[in-house]
Amino acid sequence: MYDIVIVGAGPAGLTAAIYARRAAKSVLVLEAKAWGGQIINTPDIENYPVVAHVSGADFANRLYEQALGLGAEVKLEKVIGLEDRGTVKLVRSTAAEYEAGAVILATGSENRKLGVDREQELTGKGVSYCATCDGNFFRRRDVAVVGGGNTALEDALYLSELANKVYLIHRRDSFRGEEASAARLKEKQNVELVLNSTVTALLGDKRLTGVEVTDKLSGEKRVLEVKGLFVAVGRIPENENFRALVQLDGSGYAVAGEDCHTRTPGVFVAGDNRTKELRQLVTAAADGAMAATEAVKYLNA
Ligand code: NAP
Repeated sequence: MYDIVIVGAGPAGLTAAIYARRAAKSVLVLEAKAWGGQIINTPDIENYPVVAHVSGADFANRLYEQALGLGAEVKLEKVIGLEDRGTVKLVRSTAAEYEAGAVILATGSENRKLGVDREQELTGKGVSYCATCDGNFFRRRDVAVVGGGNTALEDALYLSELANKVYLIHRRDSFRGEEASAARLKEKQNVELVLNSTVTALLGDKRLTGVEVTDKLSGEKRVLEVKGLFVAVGRIPENENFRALVQLDGSGYAVAGEDCHTRTPGVFVAGDNRTKELRQLVTAAADGAMAATEAVKYLNA
């Protein structure tokens, strides 16, 4: 039995592991994919205090090493169920079952799909959800990014250094992402903003050869001849497996305040999968610290 099982090894989960280990609790972190969470897809982090520039992958590796160094155990297993047995919580993964005194859900979120025909079929054949992973395949080619949040803006900036031309397609005329990134994009000679527009068709037989965009105001259609389309239209929280113990809001976020408590005593939630105003690296880390501190308090009570 572990004192604390943490589900998810992103910035929230690994920070929770650090805090829990420093409180001398035994800690198991279970991660379905790769440690680091979505931050590994960010090419350059510029808004984390003290660290002026660091790649997401580097950040994730250093955080992982820090948690391991403090004695946290990390296993790559997907958690598929959670049961409340009072003072013991049963965490079921695809490989095993674990007992814990407290559980911290730091599962983050997965890519939202654009919802256009043939998206699935062309994924990996020109359609991508990760500019840092796949951008290199499109050196000196024309590509498009769709979305208007920080991910889309940062992806477009990153791709502008690799690709011949980058179209940034957004359904409105103002961005949800930071003004600083939008301003930098507007200065790029090889970036064209395609605003008030949606992707209405993916073109190409075996691979993507272009995207059809439709101007929402005029209804006019235009074909952008691109070899790559990077979809950055947000994320969906990964909470479905915990619905029985955790209240979810209409968008699937686990309802919890700053203290990271859920409606089940001993089950806490930290990071992007919780209801909150600002989903950033720094707030994910803060949640991890808070959830672990509350879990320790719960265990010691
Ligand atoms: P986001 O902020 O939720 O933005 C999603 C964007 O996609 C929005 O502009 C939205 O348009 C658009 N969109 C949603 N569904 C769409 C659809 N079906 N078709 C076309 N467009 C669609 O998502 P994100 O950019 O992935 O960011 C997620 C969170 O991570 C945010 O809180 C972000 O600030 C944070 N983040 C932070 C950093 C950083 O700190 N360096 C880096 C990356 C991400 P509307 O604006 O019209 O709704």
